[in-house]
Amino acid sequence: MNMKKLISMLLISACIVSMAACGSKDEGDKKEESADEKQTLVMATNAEFPPYEFHDGDDIVGIDAEMAAAVAEELGMDFKIEDMAFESIIPAVTGGKADIGVAGMTVTESRLKNVNFSDTYAKATQVVIVKEGSDIAGPDDLTGKKIGVQLGTTGDIYASDIENAEVEQYNKGFEAVQALIQEKIDAVVIDGEPAKEFVKDAEGLKILDEAFTEEEYAIAIAKDNEELLEKVNGALKSLKDSGKLDEIVAKYIKSDAE
Ligand code: GLN
Repeated sequence: MNMKKLISMLLISACIVSMAACGSKDEGDKKEESADEKQTLVMATNAEFPPYEFHDGDDIVGIDAEMAAAVAEELGMDFKIEDMAFESIIPAVTGGKADIGVAGMTVTESRLKNVNFSDTYAKATQVVIVKEGSDIAGPDDLTGKKIGVQLGTTGDIYASDIENAEVEQYNKGFEAVQALIQEKIDAVVIDGEPAKEFVKDAEGLKILDEAFTEEEYAIAIAKDNEELLEKVNGALKSLKDSGKLDEIVAKYIKSDAE
């Protein structure tokens, strides 16, 4: 009787021990596998471009940051952001330092020589910011003026085409706006949504009604990474179809209360 009891107890404890051993082994294997398999999607950006990417304490947030994180999730990948100068983003992508460049980046012919672009995910404009009371009433009045831009952006390229204009290049759009406030320059040419953010936080500035150009944003990917391009386009499509992308945009761009 006692012996039987002892044996059955031994059997039960042996079972428990082996189950536990088995269980922990399984878990260990799984962890190893996922560490091997789960790759990290690295996004290069310039986090000086609200509402698309900007610093919030130690975090980089914004439409692009959340959209790219959602793309990574769709692809079952981990996600990481590398913050750098706008000019460094395409070199980071072509050099393999980053997988994707997401920075409110406009699709242009000249960039297409160096990288592929995903399907577009936003429409944008270049606008003109001036001081209240400025004699500049539209893009045509920029001839011969001092124009501030963010270095290497489409605003920089357009401003450089304006006759007799003196173009001042800044590393951050915000710095161009500061220069305008201090009357070091006459106008800033920059993307419409960041313009709204910068003007909102400053006094005595306005955005001209007439937009300078229309453009579209897309994700930059190395030309030799066709596989990732396809995957990203697939993920973007499902984010568009599910309404998730709209949701992210709505979080950061409040429709103007008229
Ligand atoms: N859309 C502009 C460009 O692509 C500006 C982007 C930016 O400053 N982040 O050049």
